[in-house]
Amino acid sequence: MNVNSIPFNKPYMTGRELLYIAQAHTNGHLAGDGMFTKKCHAWLEARTGTYKALLTHSCTAALEMAAILADIQPGDEVIMPSYTFVSTANAFVLRGGVPVFVDIRLDTFNIDETKIEAAITSRTKAIIPVHYAGVACEMDIIMNIAQRHNLLVIEDAAQGIMSTYKGKPLGSIGHLGAYSFHETKNIISGEGGALLINDERFAERAEIIRAKGTNRGQFFRGQVDKYTWVDIGSSYLPGEVIAAFLWAQMEEAQSITQKRMGLWQQYHETLAPLEEAGKLRQPIIPEYCQHNAHMYYIMLLNLKTRTQVIAQMKGAGINTVFHYVPLHDAPYGKRHGRAHGDLPVTHMASDCLLRLPLWLGVESHQQKIVDKLSTCF
Ligand SMILES: *Cc1c(COP(=O)(O)O)cnc(C)c1O
Repeated sequence: MNVNSIPFNKPYMTGRELLYIAQAHTNGHLAGDGMFTKKCHAWLEARTGTYKALLTHSCTAALEMAAILADIQPGDEVIMPSYTFVSTANAFVLRGGVPVFVDIRLDTFNIDETKIEAAITSRTKAIIPVHYAGVACEMDIIMNIAQRHNLLVIEDAAQGIMSTYKGKPLGSIGHLGAYSFHETKNIISGEGGALLINDERFAERAEIIRAKGTNRGQFFRGQVDKYTWVDIGSSYLPGEVIAAFLWAQMEEAQSITQKRMGLWQQYHETLAPLEEAGKLRQPIIPEYCQHNAHMYYIMLLNLKTRTQVIAQMKGAGINTVFHYVPLHDAPYGKRHGRAHGDLPVTHMASDCLLRLPLWLGVESHQQKIVDKLSTCF
């Protein structure tokens, strides 16, 4: 990449990360679940209203914990979009689960809730809505389907921190929810994530699974007099250095989101003439969804146009990127999952969607990006 080029993403630092890391260093507690982890848990619980939040080393880890908590057995089916990140599926496949892929909606590119019920079989255990671009899935309808069929709902809210659906924070609506703090997300710690436990039935076991299958948490609270191996589990918790970094970000989560919303709105206004001219389609946000400006994407007419636009933008030093290759079409997805019906919207999004640079500081480049884009048609 040329030094003058505009990157697609640039992680934002608040300036307090190193201070808090120095404090963790001085405290001398570097393993997980120290002071900074507790601050992050309390923040997440207050912010989302979840019963219990647990930091993990990634959203992938939080989804893996959710698959264990959902007691996914070999052959059990989980319904999810194909237009998503690979971890949405992998977490369940690791337990022998079978992803059943359904199509997405034309407006938000979220799972098409009207396609879920027909995909349910006697082996279905859970529905995994993915809130694409931090814009909510139709959670009322999804929760109602789940209740009627006795299924669990596990929200992949990797992109959804600070977003809401009818006033409810994403990740706090299903039985379980997962956030990501990967450096490409809005609130970051390099790698990092969290599991939100909204149904308190899962709280005790979640703590055990996260602590290598031991009841270490109960021991430290004086509830048992020694700690031992009581369940399957792994090491899913981040160390304090990561939590210290994350705490600096959480303190500024509101202002980070506000600034991103300003950048998103700027694209939305300046690209409106291109939409009116029929060159592209802009994002559609249902009025009851408060989003978090995780992403600004445009829909182009076809794959050929998108390929040309990417090349032309690149030529001007502007990095724009497409997104998911559908999981049901991927080599592993073909072998281990199945698509329910045709997935035309999934293919269309995969071919036509293009993401523009959106990071704090991109404001000084936005006019150039929009001007260049206008010359591509
Ligand atoms: C980023 C992302 C993940 C994975 O998050 P990690 O923290 O990198 O494990 C999972 N699902 C979706 C939809 C994502 O965007």
